Amino acid sequence: VTTSPSDGRFAPSPTGELHIGNLRTALLAWLFARSAGGRFVVRMEDLDTARVREGAAAQQLDDLRAIGLDWDGDVVIQSLREHAYREALERLDTFPCFCTRADIRAAASAPHGPLPPYPGLCRELSPARVAELSEERNAALRLRGGLEIAFEDRLHGRVSGPVDDVVLRRADGALAYNLAVVVDDAWQGVGEVVRGDDLLDATHAQVHIARSLGLPVPRYAHVPLVVGPDGERLAKRHGAVTLRDIDPGDAVAWMAVSLGLGAARTAADLLERFDPDALPREPTPFP
Ligand code: GLU
Repeated sequence: VTTSPSDGRFAPSPTGELHIGNLRTALLAWLFARSAGGRFVVRMEDLDTARVREGAAAQQLDDLRAIGLDWDGDVVIQSLREHAYREALERLDTFPCFCTRADIRAAASAPHGPLPPYPGLCRELSPARVAELSEERNAALRLRGGLEIAFEDRLHGRVSGPVDDVVLRRADGALAYNLAVVVDDAWQGVGEVVRGDDLLDATHAQVHIARSLGLPVPRYAHVPLVVGPDGERLAKRHGAVTLRDIDPGDAVAWMAVSLGLGAARTAADLLERFDPDALPREPTPFP
């Protein structure tokens, strides 16, 4: 397989149904790739087993087909590729971290709100201390960070920011999404990552992981989300619309108009007119 910079992917987590916002992101990822003659692959990100729902993956693939998307090769299933992530983990400069979330909050004097950047508590533990703490609890594994990472995004321009010591394996043994996504995007030959802009902030860590592994860093295009009428992020539990609620043709029609692409009933109608540089930059309310 030869890869090109326009080879793209859609990588849903099979935790429920795709709502209109997820479907629009999938449509965009497909349009970026296919309108440039690129390959398009699909990957199921099912490592977080507690959140995976039985039957969700099959339903999601049906819904992608229903709006006219197609993909190359078999769907990649992350839970079958743990060996690849563990092998990558072994090649990285990691250290064991015994901190709980409470330890991190206390050390950073941040009792509330989002978890603060990792304050480095376990960065310089002696081997003796590691052995001692290992008796009490399991360690997470963190990649040494503490640097500034910059990347180019098709919609957001140059983005830069600090990266702390990213967790690659949680204390419960679960491999981190950030590691798996990087290993798989490279392995699947993805040249351009198109995804929702809620993941823009995760990208610094992913670029750091890719570089540390000596993997090619893809191009990025973080696209605006669909939000509820109140401006809040769509979530199925808040009644976000899925293809159980509307006809796939009507869904494509709404998505096309919301992206300024005119009338359409299926993805293929949009291929000729798609212009990545003319995309809206703002979140779109639905309905
Ligand atoms: N699986 C992630 C999600 O559903 C998306 C990962 C990605 O596109 O990089 O939110």
